Amino acid sequence: MTDGPPAPPFLPSEADLSRCVHCGLCLQSCPTYRVLRLEPDSPRGRIHIIRSLVEGRIGPTPVALEHLELCLQCRNCEAVCPSGVPFGRIMESARAMVTKRRSAPLSWRVRQALLRLFLARSPLADAAIAAASPIAPLAHRLAGRLPPPLRLLAASTPRPEARPYRRHGVLARPPRPSRRVGLLLGCVMPALFPAVHRATVRLLALAGCEVVSPAGQACCGALFAHSGDMDMALALARRNIDAFLAVGVDAVVVNAAGCGALMKEYAHLLAHDPAYAAKARLFSSLVRDVTEFLDEANLPPPTRPLPLRVTYQDPCHLAHAQRVREAPRRLLRRVPHLALIEMEHPDRCCGSAGVYSLSHPGLAHVLLSERMQQAASTDAQVIATANPGCMLQLQAGVRLWRMPVRVAHVVELLAQAYEG
Ligand code: SF4
Ligand code: SF4
Repeated sequence: MTDGPPAPPFLPSEADLSRCVHCGLCLQSCPTYRVLRLEPDSPRGRIHIIRSLVEGRIGPTPVALEHLELCLQCRNCEAVCPSGVPFGRIMESARAMVTKRRSAPLSWRVRQALLRLFLARSPLADAAIAAASPIAPLAHRLAGRLPPPLRLLAASTPRPEARPYRRHGVLARPPRPSRRVGLLLGCVMPALFPAVHRATVRLLALAGCEVVSPAGQACCGALFAHSGDMDMALALARRNIDAFLAVGVDAVVVNAAGCGALMKEYAHLLAHDPAYAAKARLFSSLVRDVTEFLDEANLPPPTRPLPLRVTYQDPCHLAHAQRVREAPRRLLRRVPHLALIEMEHPDRCCGSAGVYSLSHPGLAHVLLSERMQQAASTDAQVIATANPGCMLQLQAGVRLWRMPVRVAHVVELLAQAYEG
């Protein structure tokens, strides 16, 4: 960490803050306001707190910081704001400012240290997930009998079905490839959901792409940016930019909505870094969520029928941050005999929000409960989504509410429709 007064992206800009006209149109879209009914837990209230902190009119008291901490950073408010307030980057910069001013409470510092330990070095993430796996069956069985704060934690214990997919080099090379794309592996996707990477590579190859995974790539940095550790988020962004630009790709494909959202914002985060500003702009222009990339790619029509009732949960960082809503639905509708049934409010946060279900299990449980009721009312056999955090959270919901439902990434279902 360097000394000196904070500057963007370690400080919310006046231009961003002043866009809020206090109309309140975002309030009913904010999950924390809907549950808690408190103005300081609304987007408008949080912007007021952040501005007061920036101007030094209030100090970083535990009460003020808790209102910031309760924000899921789901960016639902951003999607409905008529003034275009970039709430996501305001909140990220506000947390970075608190950290930079050395005002972060102990809980923030512990979280930042744990994230640095486990996610900045991927093999440690793999090892932690593998270590949790043996206790998963017992934790899942006991989850329903535990008190609410522990219930969600136990039900979320990961149980990967295969070895981590952490491969580098050329992953697929079809004859006469039309494009060369880079695949972000991410910090937890390889160990938690290796089948999602396998399906992604298979579909990209079917679409005529050579798929490469540069060895120097790293975690995208999203969880660091969300938790106020902007120094580490920027360091990881620079590593990814160098790694992907060095191998010369036409697109950087991402199958985790939270990662893609931040990688599209590297250009903004590094705008003040003379050595990286231009490279970051180029990199961000190449980033595509896997669903938007495949929707526009030259995929042959799937042939294998999947007679399934499927409902789709919009990941917040795909629908609200990247504004990608129709591409995943169009891909699902291509699958023969698959019935896509919309649930009520499919773009409401499921309560996962990175590590929110660990830091605020009570509120995360309330949001998940609402989500599972809405999914159950569709009578779907599969809940499809496009982000590992949402998958983990929805799987926990399926276990807690004993639903006969499978949770799958959109690309897993689509790849299944090409099997055989
Ligand atoms: S964030 Fe946007 S919608 Fe919410 S109060 Fe401000 S201007 Fe209105
Ligand atoms: S990011 Fe989500 S939780 Fe935070 S203020 Fe906006 S809508 Fe509310």
